[in-house]
Amino acid sequence: MVALAEIFAAAQVIRGVADNTPLVPSMLGETLGGDLWLKLEICQPMGAFKLRGALNAMAHLPDDAVGVTCCSTGNHGRAVAWAARARGLRAVICMSELVPQAKVDGIRALGAEVHLVGRSQDAAQSEATRLVREEGLAEIPPFDDPHVIAGQGTIALEMLGARPELDTLLIPLSGGGLAAGMAVAAKAIKPDIRLIGISMDRGAAMAASIAAGHPVEIEEVPSLADSLGGGIGMTNRYSFAICRELLDEVVLVTEAEIYRAMQALYYQDRMIAEGACVVGIAALMADKVEPGPAMGTVLTGRNLDMDQFTRVVTGQDVVVGDVTVRGERYAQ
Ligand SMILES: *Cc1c(COP(=O)(O)O)cnc(C)c1O
Repeated sequence: MVALAEIFAAAQVIRGVADNTPLVPSMLGETLGGDLWLKLEICQPMGAFKLRGALNAMAHLPDDAVGVTCCSTGNHGRAVAWAARARGLRAVICMSELVPQAKVDGIRALGAEVHLVGRSQDAAQSEATRLVREEGLAEIPPFDDPHVIAGQGTIALEMLGARPELDTLLIPLSGGGLAAGMAVAAKAIKPDIRLIGISMDRGAAMAASIAAGHPVEIEEVPSLADSLGGGIGMTNRYSFAICRELLDEVVLVTEAEIYRAMQALYYQDRMIAEGACVVGIAALMADKVEPGPAMGTVLTGRNLDMDQFTRVVTGQDVVVGDVTVRGERYAQ
């Protein structure tokens, strides 16, 4: 499916375009019971690690490709738009009419076309499928694609290259492209490394699918970790099988735990990151993961709603869908 060789090849492809981001020590390590290293994918040019997979997939398109499409409301759409502009290709990002205007503007600012169709991700997917069929565009899937998985796997190469002593990796988990790629690389280089996937406890499609033994559909609900929302696809071919085989544990965290971890990262490390980035820290703070001597986690992206973030770090209540996370000031 995807092997270490493909991940090394992806590292060559993306070199000089996606950054080899810093791996820095977290101030939280001391209180969490072991060293904790943060891989700063928040520093990628478009603000998230998804650039790696998009660039690698784009590099494998035929020379006569006329353009690319995808359906994504978040960082994948932004990454595809960014990578297409770098290669001078047309990009059409398909989104539902419910997507916030700021996201549409961000993607248009990168020169991509945005097609707003219907009121669900399914409708947006149908539009992408139509563009493939009728206009000959190539689809770049957000996670279930060998080139995308190999691209995301380069993160683990860089982490273990810089810190070979890392014994535990805490990996934010949604569709599993990130976790699958990192797991293939990390287990090939260091077979006894412990790999933990972490999702929010409401709408964790990969966790439910692994528990069931096959892809299952799950209701999508709003979360502070919005980048971790969405299904894994009922016809999942790659990321599910790899995650099921290679992840040692899958852990779920609550909205209140994510809220506190966003505060901890901000006040201790002075970093601004999406809720999706702090699920590993949240799991450690909630004693849901046994700490290891040398842990690493990925700060996956920084494309967050700053109004919501401000409410979190000032200890105000935050409404996410039908739950209210009770405000709480951070005890510095
Ligand atoms: C996409 C994304 C993830 C999850 O990656 P998957 O490959 O879907 O598991 C985590 N964090 C951020 C910021 C993302 O954009």
